[in-house]
Amino acid sequence: MPAHNHFHSVMQIGPVQIGTHRDRRGRTKHAAVCTADRCGWSSDYSSQSAAQLAARTHRCKVR
Ligand SMILES: [Zn+2]
Repeated sequence: MPAHNHFHSVMQIGPVQIGTHRDRRGRTKHAAVCTADRCGWSSDYSSQSAAQLAARTHRCKVR
């Protein structure tokens, strides 16, 4: 699992979890994290809608 400290899951779209966590400056970031084994894709976004869009368009290599 990616090392997102205090990762708080908000919703799940397919294999991708959307959640929030704090960055080093204490700002809330919206992260999209793929939960599929051997994929390991994750990315941070400044808004939840951007993270949701990324989750919907994520094409998982692992099926
Ligand atoms: Zn994936």
